[in-house]
Amino acid sequence: MLFDTHAHLNAPAFASDLDRVLARAQSKAVSQLVVVGYNLASSRRAVALARRYPGRLYAAVGIHPHDAEQADKASVAAIRDLAAAPGVVAIGETGLDYYRDLAPRARQQAAFAAMLDLAEDLDLPVIIHSRAAIADALAAVEERQLKAGGVLHAFAGEASDVERAVAAGLLLSFAGPLTYRRADMLRAAAAIVPAEWLLVETDCPYLPPQPWRGRRNEPAYLPATVETLATVRGMTSAACAALVTANAERLFGGAGRTG
Ligand SMILES: [Zn+2]
Repeated sequence: MLFDTHAHLNAPAFASDLDRVLARAQSKAVSQLVVVGYNLASSRRAVALARRYPGRLYAAVGIHPHDAEQADKASVAAIRDLAAAPGVVAIGETGLDYYRDLAPRARQQAAFAAMLDLAEDLDLPVIIHSRAAIADALAAVEERQLKAGGVLHAFAGEASDVERAVAAGLLLSFAGPLTYRRADMLRAAAAIVPAEWLLVETDCPYLPPQPWRGRRNEPAYLPATVETLATVRGMTSAACAALVTANAERLFGGAGRTG
């Protein structure tokens, strides 16, 4: 059994064939997924999907840094209301993206702070997107008491970032780039993460593993990332799958899992 901790099945890319995508996921033993919102509308779709597939799909609700300018008072309040829906297991995604800078940094920081406040108030784990912004992202987390912890999703940092992230209470989730030929630095980081702090995800439709580069990613491709992680860690694929699934169930199991 595998747990895809970050899938945008709420994205337009999956609008026409979601049932077939889910069937292929099931055929590869990817039996639980968190559908991650990135703005208000996609968070609503994530909640609707979690309702439709209870016990199989869960939802995260939040506002992505690219959409930070949408994070006014009303939207934050709407996310807070959505977080009470059945099947919601996390706040996110949220975070900082200084690489693409699609929203002004001050707005990104304000939206991130609002989402972290929600996670803290509601005792939900937080799903963090950080690109070229790791120092600011970790500093914001360190200022708070996030009892339910969280995850740095699609981790793209270096070994030197790992210890500080773990100390801040964040698991590290690895996606398709772990399998890329030139990703030796990322694999070196994956090798040193303490076992209980490892997760895997697809981030589909983005970041497909090596065999599917350039195509739409989907949850059925998750085993390729697990296999690479297993090699990096010197484990069997089965043991690695069991480890990351147990970690995901522990992180997301505290709330909303009744579907
Ligand atoms: Zn994402």
